[in-house]
Amino acid sequence: MTNTPLSDASREGYFGEFGGMYVPELLVPPLRELEQAIADIMPGAVYTESLRDLLENYAGRETPLTYCPNLSAELGFQLWLKREDLLHTGAHKINNALGQALLAKMMGKTHLVAETGAGQHGVATATAAARFGMRCTIFMGAEDVERQAPNVMRMNLLGAEVVAVESGSRTLKDAINEALRYWIAHQDDTLYCFGTAAGPHPFPSLVRELQSVIGREARAQMLARVGKLPDYVVAAVGGGSNAIGMLHPFVGDEEVKLIGVEAGGTGEPGCLNSAPINLGSPGVLHGQRTMLLQDADGQIMESSSISAGLDYPGVGPEHAHLAAIGRVRYDVVYDLQALRAFHRLTRSEGILPALESSHAVAWVFEHAAEVPAGSNVLVNLSGRGDKDLGIISKYAAMEGK
Ligand SMILES: *Cc1c(COP(=O)(O)O)cnc(C)c1O
Repeated sequence: MTNTPLSDASREGYFGEFGGMYVPELLVPPLRELEQAIADIMPGAVYTESLRDLLENYAGRETPLTYCPNLSAELGFQLWLKREDLLHTGAHKINNALGQALLAKMMGKTHLVAETGAGQHGVATATAAARFGMRCTIFMGAEDVERQAPNVMRMNLLGAEVVAVESGSRTLKDAINEALRYWIAHQDDTLYCFGTAAGPHPFPSLVRELQSVIGREARAQMLARVGKLPDYVVAAVGGGSNAIGMLHPFVGDEEVKLIGVEAGGTGEPGCLNSAPINLGSPGVLHGQRTMLLQDADGQIMESSSISAGLDYPGVGPEHAHLAAIGRVRYDVVYDLQALRAFHRLTRSEGILPALESSHAVAWVFEHAAEVPAGSNVLVNLSGRGDKDLGIISKYAAMEGK
């Protein structure tokens, strides 16, 4: 038998040359326990039926597929939005948090730990923990604790303990390191509920599985409403969970063009950005080999975006792979393009998108000239924009409006 990368046991959890489990030895047992629980518990009827019920009757699935009549008339092609913004807690993150919390509960764990950057995944995890009667500890960079006060208050109200991380750049990257360390010390009763389709194996595949409900639904909805698959599917990429959830069910449909949108920051020459696939290089961070923003010595660089949820110096390894094999095209959208898209969608269709999702919408506007007339373009609206009103009004004031 030839030893292909995937059949080689030491290369499990790889997507091509990306992924893997680059962790300290003490983290291997809880990751193995999680891997075993995924195999034993998730396919069973109790798990499947409980999750279906939660997603439907607690979170609000299935989410609508909304046609945009006004923008479609302007653009000359059909624009469709998958409405993850309408879910409980306002974004797709609840799909993942409920799925991992249920798994933790059925594993006999009593405590959830998670990282958060902007606070959205922390709120989703704290919500799931409240629902399941579990203890919840959220690690958040001290810088982010100051910047994202409303979400800190939400987490506290939901009963979670928010730990401000003072190490490193005091942001998301450091919060993940602290949460992993904490998990090592508390693995008996605790599960780490990772917030995106990144990190060490098995998180990238677990989170993709839990978020693929987005793409599976959207695919069926397009077939039911339009009678065919979309020509383009577009999603914004931070760590990559809403994008992999939306895109993965279409990967086998060769005629469907798949677009991932990275955040380019201000776009000034040499500016900080959050676009590791376009502007980074391969390396290891947070237990995975993937595309990273790093300097020549392999030191992780600071990332930046107008959208807090896209502000991460790495990306899930499956995206790095899909980029390498050319199945998904990854383009960059800049802060002001996303901001313009926010206003255009809001005024044209009466929908306030999250600034993360605005990057995906902006791709459609910026690339409209290359989309053939009559095409069907499906965009994942990963979250709602209410959380971003402070930033929106700050920019409006800067422009003297
Ligand atoms: C967190 C977040 C994202 C980015 O995270 P992914 O894991 O890349 O999906 C995108 N949109 C919204 C609304 C978010 O809250």
